[in-house]
Amino acid sequence: MKQRSKALLLAAAALLAAPQSAYAWGTTGHAAIANIAELNLNASVWTEIQGLLAVDGVTHMSKVASWADTQRAATDPTHTTRIPIDGSAAPAHACTGTAMCADEAIAYYSTILADRTQSNANREVALKYIIHLVGDLHQPLHGSDPIGYNTVTFGGTSTIIHAIWDDTIIDNHGVASALLAQELINNGVSVTLGGTPRDWATESSNMARDHIYDIMPSCWDYKAPACPATPVTLPSNYATTKYPLVAQRLKQAGYRLAALLNSLLA
Ligand SMILES: [Zn+2]
Repeated sequence: MKQRSKALLLAAAALLAAPQSAYAWGTTGHAAIANIAELNLNASVWTEIQGLLAVDGVTHMSKVASWADTQRAATDPTHTTRIPIDGSAAPAHACTGTAMCADEAIAYYSTILADRTQSNANREVALKYIIHLVGDLHQPLHGSDPIGYNTVTFGGTSTIIHAIWDDTIIDNHGVASALLAQELINNGVSVTLGGTPRDWATESSNMARDHIYDIMPSCWDYKAPACPATPVTLPSNYATTKYPLVAQRLKQAGYRLAALLNSLLA
């Protein structure tokens, strides 16, 4: 997420001593998604992408998968597309502020990445946003309208539910990103693929409704009701019981990212 909401969340995160990367999938999640995609790229597409990554002097997409979280200007794209969990229709521009929402940004940067008359520098920036934002749209709280400001207690620590879904569930699984990618590719679980970025956000919103906000109130940083100060205590098995949902979303994001890149650079 970006701008005002990110600033607020960062402030909340600092206040609550939440993990530093409490504003997207954490670096492990984003790197795992990039690794899954990289292993499913067509050979010619991978060659072209390696040429673009050379702009940053790196050789794997995982190395730039969290770069977008370091870009914080007000005009930078937001990392959310907020689909209401109450079933009401989302506006065309489904995020706060005037910067591009995640779905809009994926469309915008897809055009730049596919345009071989653009400079490698411009195309690499586009690649980095696409790698990151496809991942973010699969984090349930990046697709739902309420994006997880609820304070929670888990394992004796106070944090916000957004951080639990960004990092804690993945960290609790305890597998580093390269191995995690292999594990997800080979786990025998089939996942739904295809769809548009807006569809991915809607899937995320539905998952947030059914598996996150089922035990806590929906609340907002920018409209009523604001989130209650009293934290919800999560059950001790929360991270393990929710891990299969996170695994599903990481796997979907990785394969969908590969399909998008294969199509843009065909
Ligand atoms: Zn992000």
